[in-house]
Formats: sequence, structure tokens, C-alpha cells
Amino acid sequence: MLERGEVANSWRTERWDSLRLLTPNWQSRLPGHRYDGPDPDGYMSMGEVIEFVESFAKVTGAPVITEANVTSLRSSHNGYHLISSRGEIHCQAVIIASGACNKPSVPAFANAVPASVQQLTPFDYRNPDQLPEGGVLVVGASATGVQLAAELQRSGRPVTLSVGEHVRLPRTYRGRDVLWWMDASGIWDQRYDEIDDLTRARRLPSPQLVGTYERDTLDLNALTSMGVELVGRWADLRDGRALFSGGLRNMFTLADLKMGRLLDTFDAWARDHGRDVEVGTPERLAPIRVPETARLQLDLRNGDIRTIVWATGFRPDYRWLDVPVLDQKGQLVHEGGVVDMPGLYALGLPVLRRRKSTFIHGIEDDAREVVDHLARYLAVERPA
Ligand SMILES: Cc1cc2nc3c(=O)[nH]c(=O)nc-3n(C[C@H](O)[C@H](O)[C@H](O)COP(=O)(O)OP(=O)(O)OC[C@H]3O[C@@H](n4cnc5c(N)ncnc54)[C@H](O)[C@@H]3O)c2cc1C
Repeated sequence: MLERGEVANSWRTERWDSLRLLTPNWQSRLPGHRYDGPDPDGYMSMGEVIEFVESFAKVTGAPVITEANVTSLRSSHNGYHLISSRGEIHCQAVIIASGACNKPSVPAFANAVPASVQQLTPFDYRNPDQLPEGGVLVVGASATGVQLAAELQRSGRPVTLSVGEHVRLPRTYRGRDVLWWMDASGIWDQRYDEIDDLTRARRLPSPQLVGTYERDTLDLNALTSMGVELVGRWADLRDGRALFSGGLRNMFTLADLKMGRLLDTFDAWARDHGRDVEVGTPERLAPIRVPETARLQLDLRNGDIRTIVWATGFRPDYRWLDVPVLDQKGQLVHEGGVVDMPGLYALGLPVLRRRKSTFIHGIEDDAREVVDHLARYLAVERPA
């Protein structure tokens, strides 16, 4: 196992200070290793996640070579040739487990933002003290965007949040964590080959969730109650002006509709499985409040906005792959983790084999199946 940093590198180096997992502690499980502390319903801080992954590496005796940055992978005689900062390796098979979130995704027009406005991505952001006083424009309203918008608004800076397509979820539903429902009702376990629109499922943004002691719901209503201003999706930048799409109402209706459908699925599952007695009664959230007027543009030169935080998603970094396995959008082409080159595999990508594939608890089932395939390949199919 080659790792360019230390074990749990992304949790150590690429996350902000206040971040806690949005998955509850009881759900943090790796093969043979699970949370056994006093607060199964809590959410781990980054320090706790690092400890959790480190102890898994120790217990399993994982053969990790740290500080080994892989800069090239090519196919070679009967296998693959890798170049890393710790030397070169020849091997018969490779699993690409370099993560789905290596780089923040930022739109190209960020280059044209006036120099007077500071720009940060979630990889640079640590806490509000880094920012100048004054207005902040947070772009993106998925898990990262809503969490940073709330933290920055609480720090006393007026926050404007640019909202695109998003997934609204209550933190708890009928007295249980909403992710308990995802787990119990089997939604997390839905397989990639059973999902109608897999491309769309793989692009779905993260849900608007935060892990806090109070188990608060952090949806757009919670943010507007705190004073955050909502605007539409940032569509373009012209002459120093950010131009936002209209249609917030439609976007909110869609998010509410999808959330309602999901809660209906949970209710039906509880009814059909005789679980109604052990959970609370069905409930529905008030729709997202549409602002009376939403600004369609914002002048970035007048000093109102001092900082932009791009919470527009993450993408993998495959610059080290010197094999023809990426599509036109730079995504790895694979069938349930089996890449279209003999002996090449992937793990940890969105809906790789199941809806839970990119979550900590999702790796076990995927890894077992992918490694089975790899073992068969080495035993039977590998060319002499
Ligand atoms: C902001 C954020 C919040 C998240 N919150 C949760 C959560 O609450 N619960 C949850 O279950 N999941 C969460 N996730 C998803 C989380 O990333 C995965 O659960 C988990 O970390 C995926 O593990 P991984 O090993 O596949 O990828 P990563 O953790 O990204 O690990 C990939 C490793 O590969 C290394 N690497 C990359 N390229 C190279 C190279 N060329 N050479 C050598 N090494 C390389 C990296 O240094 C890194 O250590 C979150 C993700 C993000 C970005």
C-alpha cells in the first residue's frame, strides 16, 4: 500500500477544524473494527477519525509505505510499472484507492474574480479567523457549503449562499438519525447494477447534514433563520459581477419533493417490516421558504463581498495514471470497480458497487467483491 502522506492523510490535511463526520459513530465501521466508545450516536471529530483509521491500520498490520507519492502508473510486460517518490515497483495488479475527493472543483470563471476578493476552497479553509472581516459568498449548498455558511455567519460575517441542486435531509426522522433509516431500509445497500440512472446517482451532491451534539437539522430554512441570504446558482461572471440563476422556487420544490419521497420510502419500510412501534410517528418538514426577492447579481468590486468560499464539490486527481482508462470528463471508466485493463481495479468512488461506496462503512462489502475478482484474475486469468 503506497500512501503519499501519513495514514489517514486526507483527514489530517484536507479538512477544516470544526468538521465532524456527518455519519454517526455506530456507523463508523471497517472490517472487524468499529466504534466502541460511550457515544454511539455522536459524530467523530477529525482527531477521532484519524485515531480510528490509524488504529485500524495497526490492528490489521496493513503494509503501508508512507510518504510514497505515486507519480506514474503504466502498463508493462505482464503487469504494471509504478514510479513513486520512494522508488519504482513492478506488480501484476493494482487497486486505485486514491480517493474521490483529491481536489476541490472550482468553476473556470473563478480566475476572473477581482483580485480584491479573497478566494478559498475547503482544502484551504480551516476556520473563520483566516478571513478578513466583511461579507462572504459561499458557493454551493451541499454538506460542505451549508456547514461553512453556518460557521461563517456565526462568526459575525454576513453570508450569502449560492444554491444549486441540493439534497435536503432532516438530521433525525421519527426519533432516529436519518442515516439509521438509510441503513435499516436498505437504501445504502442498493447495488450499482440495480440503480436506474447510475450516472446521475454517481453525481448526486452530498446531503445537507452536519454532525453536532444537538443533532440539529442544517437545511436552508435553518440558515435563513440565522440571517444567511440565499441566491441562485452562480451561472457566470461578467465585468466583476456574479450572475445567479433565477428559479430558486423550482429548485426548492424539487429538493422538498425528493426528500418527501425518501421519507415515504422509510415509512413504507417501517410499516412493511413491523417497525412502526419502535420509532416515532411519521412527520413532514415545512417546505423551504423561498426568499421574497433573491438577488440575481452581485457586484464583486464594491467591497461588500471580501471572501468567496468555493464549496462546489470535489473530484479525483488522476494525473499520475499513464493508462487510457479515463473518459472525456476525466472520470475513471469501470464496471463496479473493475477497470477495463486486466489487473486494474478501483475502490472508494461514488456508487462504485453500492450507494454507500464512498462512506467509511461502505468499503467493506465493495472491497470484498473487488478483491475476489482480483484474486481470481491472479489465479486464473493472468497471462503467463
Ligand atoms: C469534507 C468531507 C467530509 C466527509 N465526511 C464523511 C463522513 O461524515 N462519513 C463518511 O463515511 N465519509 C465521509 N467522507 C467521505 C470520505 O472521504 C470517505 O469516507 C473515505 O475517506 C474514503 O476513503 P478512501 O481511502 O477511499 O479515500 P481518501 O480518504 O481520500 O484516501 C485516499 C488516500 O490516497 C492517497 N493518495 C492519493 N493520491 C495518491 C498518489 N498519487 N500516491 C500515493 N497516495 C495517494 C491520499 O493521500 C489519501 O490518503 C467525507 C469526505 C469529505 C471530502
